[in-house]
Amino acid sequence: MPSQLAKLEVPKADAIVVGSGPNGLAAAICLGQAGWKVVVLEAADTPGGGVRSAELTLPDFVHDICSSVYAMVVCSPFLSKLPLEKFGLQWAYPPAALAHPMDDGTAAVLHKSVDETAHSLGTDGAGYRKLMGSLVSRWQDIMEDSFAPLRLPRHPVFFAKFGLNAIRPATSLAEAYFKTERGRAFFAGITAHSMLPLDKLTTSAVALVLALAAHARGWPFARGGSQQLTSVLIAYLKSLGGEVITNCRVESLDQLPPARATLLDVTPRQLLKIAGDRLPESYRHKLERYRYGVGAYKIDWALHQPIPWRAQECSTAGTVHLSGSLEEARESERLPWQGRTSDKPFVLLTQPSLFDPSRAPAGKHTAWGYCHVPNGYSGNMTEAIENQVERFAPGFRDCIAARSVMGPVEFEQHNANLIGGDIGGGVADLGQLFLRPTASLYKTPLKGVYLCSASTPPAPGVHGMCGYFAAQAALKLRA
Ligand SMILES: Cc1cc2nc3c(=O)[nH]c(=O)nc-3n(C[C@H](O)[C@H](O)[C@H](O)COP(=O)(O)OP(=O)(O)OC[C@H]3O[C@@H](n4cnc5c(N)ncnc54)[C@H](O)[C@@H]3O)c2cc1C
Repeated sequence: MPSQLAKLEVPKADAIVVGSGPNGLAAAICLGQAGWKVVVLEAADTPGGGVRSAELTLPDFVHDICSSVYAMVVCSPFLSKLPLEKFGLQWAYPPAALAHPMDDGTAAVLHKSVDETAHSLGTDGAGYRKLMGSLVSRWQDIMEDSFAPLRLPRHPVFFAKFGLNAIRPATSLAEAYFKTERGRAFFAGITAHSMLPLDKLTTSAVALVLALAAHARGWPFARGGSQQLTSVLIAYLKSLGGEVITNCRVESLDQLPPARATLLDVTPRQLLKIAGDRLPESYRHKLERYRYGVGAYKIDWALHQPIPWRAQECSTAGTVHLSGSLEEARESERLPWQGRTSDKPFVLLTQPSLFDPSRAPAGKHTAWGYCHVPNGYSGNMTEAIENQVERFAPGFRDCIAARSVMGPVEFEQHNANLIGGDIGGGVADLGQLFLRPTASLYKTPLKGVYLCSASTPPAPGVHGMCGYFAAQAALKLRA
């Protein structure tokens, strides 16, 4: 047993949560609300997992190390109901959620209004209205059923209608609803958040939920950096009597004191190590077969000035998707699954300082951008990513004051859950989206031990619902 934790005095608690990512904190808060005393043990020296920020480049330039855009927090059936603003959280809402620049110097824009969005899509506007129009008024029902494990939907008829489109491959839905490259490229860009080849089943679900979130609430940043969101979640947890201990890596369940429940914000590979021989062989085999997905290669930039987009509309959007066509995005998202990368990668870029001046010194700016690469990739995508930005914003390179680069290796060092740089806690395709990581979901064969990470439903994103449902499982068992 490692001596560090053996020596640590973990305060007496009803529940121990291992890992302080958004799911670990959501689980802790849910148990705290039920009156349980909860202690969260975190391996890193700063809490938050995928919700942390730091001065990665130059002093006073604050960068979101992992997640940056919190559409899923403001739409989450659990997190959105917490008194986060009361504990000091401020959201920075860009006027537009997303812009997708085209090679002709214009951009398609995801606005709060469906009509304005449709207008920016030109002749494909009619297809967008047909696809999204009827969903917007029912967004809360859709979120409630989407951010949940597989169960009889609360709104079965409506959800079945939504599900028929959501389950389709993104390429097929794009071709069915959009006739021009503008609409197809725009839709393909949103589906690329799925981290799957775009011709896989369920890839449309991600685009529909994210577009709906933009129309319902917007895609905000956490003012001051994503660490602020974590700090506020912890402040609320403390108000419920909980606490978080950092610099505390749990190597084995044997290191933990007895508690009513132990919730692990880790992925299956770590569970295999932490629970060791205690797990029955059949369950171990299932965990061993769990599949991890492609990795991320990310650059954070400190900039002398805002990005000089050719399409003005890009400066009104928090997020910008860089890829010329559906075909280009399809190729970029397919190659990493074959151990290759594209020369023109699909780049997901955010520019928080345009809407939150506290991110950089006066007049200066930050930007965050990444592309998908093979799991464990150790090559260099910096030039390819910057070429894509330069393509839609000539002169971008001259604006760079400093950059920080993180590939799969650095990501896994930063957070043990990012196996091979997989930012999704495992592939979220049809085979692993609903029964994740096994059909037992949050429950493990060990009494009182639960999984609460993004490797459980409803999979990745900062929505806290994996933690919420794991805590519900623990509470039901012990109630
Ligand atoms: C580059 C990148 C960009 C992203 N962008 C977005 C975005 O814009 N919006 C969005 O919604 N989502 C985004 N995500 C995804 C989001 O960050 C994750 O889905 C989310 O953080 C998962 O939360 P979690 O609690 O399951 O795990 P994590 O956030 O990964 O937290 C796990 C925690 O457990 C700790 N831990 C692991 N093992 C141990 C151990 N043995 N002992 C103690 N502690 C341990 C880790 O140190 C970590 O703090 C992004 C992720 C990455 C990496």
